[in-house]
Amino acid sequence: MSTAYEAVIGLEIHVQLNCRTKMFCRCPNRPGDEPNRNTCPICLWLPGNLPLFSREALEKATCACLSLNCEVQRESAFDQKVYYYPDLPKGFQLSQFHHPLAKNGWLDITDADGLSTRIRIQKIHMEEDVARLVHEQEGKTPVSLVDFNRAGAPLVEIVTQPDLRSPQQAMEFLRYLRTRLRYSGSSECSMEQGTMRVDANVSIRPRGSDRMNTKVEIKNMNSIRHVGDAIAYEIARQENTLHVGEEVVLHTRLWDPEKRITTAMRGKFEGPCVPDPSVPRIVIDDEWLEEMRRNLPEMPDRKAGRFASQYGLTAEEAALMSSERDVSEYFEAVAKRGVSARLAAQWIAGQVLPLMKEHNDAPAQNGVDPERFADLLLLLEREEINANAAKEVLKKLRESSASPGEIVAEFGYRQVSGAAELEAIVERVLAENPSAVENFRKGISKAMGFLMGKAMQASGGKANPRLLKEIMDRKIR
Ligand code: ZN
Ligand code: MN
Repeated sequence: MSTAYEAVIGLEIHVQLNCRTKMFCRCPNRPGDEPNRNTCPICLWLPGNLPLFSREALEKATCACLSLNCEVQRESAFDQKVYYYPDLPKGFQLSQFHHPLAKNGWLDITDADGLSTRIRIQKIHMEEDVARLVHEQEGKTPVSLVDFNRAGAPLVEIVTQPDLRSPQQAMEFLRYLRTRLRYSGSSECSMEQGTMRVDANVSIRPRGSDRMNTKVEIKNMNSIRHVGDAIAYEIARQENTLHVGEEVVLHTRLWDPEKRITTAMRGKFEGPCVPDPSVPRIVIDDEWLEEMRRNLPEMPDRKAGRFASQYGLTAEEAALMSSERDVSEYFEAVAKRGVSARLAAQWIAGQVLPLMKEHNDAPAQNGVDPERFADLLLLLEREEINANAAKEVLKKLRESSASPGEIVAEFGYRQVSGAAELEAIVERVLAENPSAVENFRKGISKAMGFLMGKAMQASGGKANPRLLKEIMDRKIR
């Protein structure tokens, strides 16, 4: 964007809570099952049935609010948000409009330059999800089918203040938000599975102005990258609009990830929001809220601080090891087994995470449990195997239940540390490569690397690199 303008961005994020049941009935909360399997008269919204509010939904929603530093309200209530659409045939959605569950939260985000910005969260309210429409073709006739598995699924909607100023900030905020919600245990926040969906409100104004100009809403984005791309596109579109002397008009747009543009969508009918008489007010007491607060898992930034002080990790290592809850738990289980914690962090970042990514595993079931991984690192620390061998053993651990020691024995990975054996190797390599020796003595330092490589190869990759280097240094001078 040109330097004359700045963007003003607010986000509304719908997050599906990972409850066992739906919000107002006891149907399983599994929207991905065979269509219309998880339904009952309540969530099919048939007349004459009263909603039955789920305690688990309140607990998970409260966890989410606490993890985002919100003030949980002692009283909240549901309203009927009235609109008709085929995915909402009962004509209204149960949502908290007038009395939301929580207000006044915040998250501090850090940009690439290390600058910290506080993004305020205006409110978080609970609401039920709507049904899902599936558009198909039956012969020549287009048909729309309705799947009620998602109807009544428990959601929270998180509404930020318009504190974000760039697509990058919006993306960073969403990453922070997702990490904290996952840590809190309230949601998987999987954009692929649609358990986190984002709307963005975007306007622009002359830089330095505090005016709030007409905004445009971009609806229902399902990836963080799409959010960034759509906001960037929308900022440029609004700048162009002003540039040609037109005005930005309040409306809703949709992001088209294929064409990478936003397109105008027909304005949605904004109906009234009236207090719902069928769900009792939600009243929370201090004792319960304190208990929820006590049970909230340690949050990532606090955990990173603890990892740095307790285990001596660098700030970067600590941030990486605490970036996801399952990674942090894996790291800590390994570090507690008497291995150098920094070695563990480096090997998790450098080897375990890439290996998991390659095989699409979660740390908890990556096939290399923390106990065996710690044993492997101990072999490396004691110089019984070298780093090359350790990488090979790690791959084999994934596919077997053997211990690292057994794998080392079976495949002959034990490091060669015998001085006599290493000296013999070095003498042979020096004799076979007189010109490299000559070059090294002339001061060409990369000749050393060449000779080390040859010697390591001659040992079948098993030489203790530290001893090998010592002997090589001594012999060559
Ligand atoms: Zn139901
Ligand atoms: Mn909503």
